Amino acid sequence: MTNMPGLYIHVPFCVRRCPYCDFYSISALELVPRYVEALAREARAAAPDWGPFETLYIGGGSPSLLNEKGLKGLFEALAPLDLSEVAEITLEANPEDVSRPAARLWAETGVTRLSLGVQSFDDRWLADVLGRGHSARQNYQAAEILKAEPYDLCLDLIYGHPSQDLENWGADLIKAADLTPEHISAYNLTVEPGTPLARSIADKLLPPPASAAMAADMFLISREALSSRGYYRYEVSNLARPGHESRHNLKYWRRLSYLGLGPSAHSFDGKKRWANVSSTRQWASALASGAQARAFTEELDREAVRLEKVMLGLRLAEGLPESFLAGTPKLDEFVKTGCLTRQDGRIRPTEKGFLIADRMALDLA
Ligand code: SF4
Repeated sequence: MTNMPGLYIHVPFCVRRCPYCDFYSISALELVPRYVEALAREARAAAPDWGPFETLYIGGGSPSLLNEKGLKGLFEALAPLDLSEVAEITLEANPEDVSRPAARLWAETGVTRLSLGVQSFDDRWLADVLGRGHSARQNYQAAEILKAEPYDLCLDLIYGHPSQDLENWGADLIKAADLTPEHISAYNLTVEPGTPLARSIADKLLPPPASAAMAADMFLISREALSSRGYYRYEVSNLARPGHESRHNLKYWRRLSYLGLGPSAHSFDGKKRWANVSSTRQWASALASGAQARAFTEELDREAVRLEKVMLGLRLAEGLPESFLAGTPKLDEFVKTGCLTRQDGRIRPTEKGFLIADRMALDLA
């Protein structure tokens, strides 16, 4: 992996909104042509200052909703940017959008990683809690279609559902591993304030999600269940077969630069970070009038940069150079209690350490 920047494209379209989701999305698919036109404007404006890029990540929203015309339009819109060095192209897909022609189209477009949002293999969580538009059966069908293509298959799972127990989560992990993906992401369900899921829990229509203790046990069994199948945890929520880590996401965690295009997309140039407005219409109108479509720009001071570096470093199995943490009084204590290890001049979190990574970062920054 190099220090070249990554390129993120936010495709904001979803057929409907999953009740737990707080990403920016809209269902107005009639806006796709306007979106593609605005994306081309934004790419043209950024081209003189950015590139070449090493990675391209097409996320959302639901990029798999784009038909052939939409996807071709998206790549044509990116033509002003230098993609000649791109070594990894990720596309996010929902299982209900996967068909043999779509899977072929993604391969022909150059996708190298297909991130499939299966979330669970239990219809109880898929329908009642997550409100997803696909069943467990569709997860299997989609994975089988995608495995016939040359790209890496990456499965996204969510644990910690209301009423879910360890046995059920363990079964989900094994079902995912049985599909032999190259990469598995496992996220603890976060109940974001203001979402329909938060309201259902507040109104007692659903029980609360897993307790912190249960979520910690679920986290720990993820590695136990998957390490014997050839996966290792390289980031708190991400496990991969060696050599199949997400290069693009590693740029975020290693604090390398990335450019985000599309409504709500975030960017970081090594000093400043900014985000686009979370409105497709406002974003497109601003670009059409020659303005920027930013919601905010910020530059962190020295202490905030240090805290961010420690926080991000402790999310990764590779950890941080020991020299960076030299002189921090609590370091030895975390090593003694088995939360951190010293190895090859680096401080690395253990499984126990991953569970308290943010707390440790506050003490070590
Ligand atoms: S498909 Fe993904 S981005 Fe769209 S609403 Fe559901 S979770 Fe959010």
